Amino acid sequence: MLDLTIIPSTGATLPEVRLNRHWINGAFTPEAMADWTERISPSHGAVVSRSLRGTAKDAEAAIAAARAAFDDGRWSGLSGKARATVLLKVADLIEANVDRMALIETLESGKPITQARGEVSGAADLWRYAASLARTLHGDSHNSLGQDMLAVVLKEPIGVVSIITPWNFPFWILSQKLPFALAAGCTCVVKPSELTPSTAVMLADLLTEAGLPSGVVNIVLGHGQPVGSTLASDPRVDMITFTGSTVVGKGIAAAASGTLKKVALELGGKNPQVIFPDADLESAADAVTFGVYFNTGQCCNSGSRIVVHEDIAEAFAARVVELSKQVAFGDPLDPATQVGAIVSPEHGAKIDRYVAAAREAGASVVLGGGHLEVPGLVPQFYQPTVVTGVTPDMAIAREEVFGPVLAVLTFRTLDEALNLVNHADYGLSAGVWSENVHTCLTFARAAQAGTVWTNTWMDGFPEVTFGGVKQSGLGREIGRHGLDEFMEIKSLVMRIGRTRAPWVRPR
Ligand code: NAD
Repeated sequence: MLDLTIIPSTGATLPEVRLNRHWINGAFTPEAMADWTERISPSHGAVVSRSLRGTAKDAEAAIAAARAAFDDGRWSGLSGKARATVLLKVADLIEANVDRMALIETLESGKPITQARGEVSGAADLWRYAASLARTLHGDSHNSLGQDMLAVVLKEPIGVVSIITPWNFPFWILSQKLPFALAAGCTCVVKPSELTPSTAVMLADLLTEAGLPSGVVNIVLGHGQPVGSTLASDPRVDMITFTGSTVVGKGIAAAASGTLKKVALELGGKNPQVIFPDADLESAADAVTFGVYFNTGQCCNSGSRIVVHEDIAEAFAARVVELSKQVAFGDPLDPATQVGAIVSPEHGAKIDRYVAAAREAGASVVLGGGHLEVPGLVPQFYQPTVVTGVTPDMAIAREEVFGPVLAVLTFRTLDEALNLVNHADYGLSAGVWSENVHTCLTFARAAQAGTVWTNTWMDGFPEVTFGGVKQSGLGREIGRHGLDEFMEIKSLVMRIGRTRAPWVRPR
């Protein structure tokens, strides 16, 4: 008897199945004779959406529309103020549609409805912030090059951008990219995950209503092959920005290399939190619990491994276990639920294999470690799981499990903790818990990660840029640097007056 907190089915009637079509050059494509993909809700086991399965031809049509829209300047030629006006309107429209969008996001992804609402309304703020960047973007000037010289560094939109997104935060991740690309003046082709395409398609109507010119954004539905690979390799695309797994990210970089287009990648993570004995241990235990179960652990920033000082490791793990039992797992449609379903049965089996392998390698599963039954729902849930006695060589310590599974490792000195933190192919985020500022700052400097949190976990802001090092990715999103990713730099060097001495000497 695990004594977990389980929220049974609400018994709610699901809405009508949603139909999603490609959106190219401002119009939805006809659906006749087409091939469809069905999405079955991971928590409810029923079909919740049907989406066109795109072909290479569909992807090429979308790229052609984006190329034409960029080349005739219908968007890049507008002032920053005009672009910001559209982006602000989109933000308002997203907010007006939060409930509608959050419901389908929950049904397609299995995430709790309260978190889906938070994700969609938070995304509106990303659009608003990007609007502020559209009005304030500027380059540099060089006025100290000598009396007769003046140079300016111009920022120009990079051109046509392909955007490929994953299923775990479908609307949030789209909004980490699209409004920033639009603020820069780019045109885009979007391919959402085949598992969670609906909110991207819903956005199409909001973009039209906000006054975005046709062809500036195009959406093609379908799988990595052939849609994603076409978006990565087509010579008419200037940049590809991708969020997803490291293995697919590497394939995208290879596909993009044929035309040397710019590549931005937000990939996986194996994010450690280091806990020192002098920390506020109650806050740390709560944050660790949040970090590992948020979005069912299907989160690039999942705090899936902790490195705890050996003097407190046993008591700390016991406290996390106690807290874990109080986290509400169950029907994502119930507002009381904090953790929902696993995205697919195959993924649930993969999580289970990681736990079994750790057990076999000598680790102790002190909580959970198996599938979770939620009364009235399909068996696609996983128990909150805490694994202690994990050593750095185990797969559960190094690889992305992407489930509600915490690996506990121990350390004695700061150097040892840093070695464990940096002993990873990934470098997305890392955290440290200590009341000693010197410990925190030494850790922050030495940790190989794109983001370091001290005495907190997973706080993020549109203003604060995000991205990974090592195999967690290339480039940055959100914040000012997120805008810069979508800009090309041009240097303009000008002579003032007719003072240039001739290079050719008169004979
Ligand atoms: P995935 O790599 O399987 O798929 C992501 C997207 O790529 C989907 O739209 C998919 O259709 C597409 N795709 C698949 N094969 C492709 C190909 N050959 N060419 C082009 N596109 C292709 O990832 P996922 O399972 O959807 O998402 C989970 C992964 O995403 C995890 O590894 C997670 O860490 C990562 N992620 C990273 C961040 C971040 O910001 N660093 C954020 C969220 C998720």
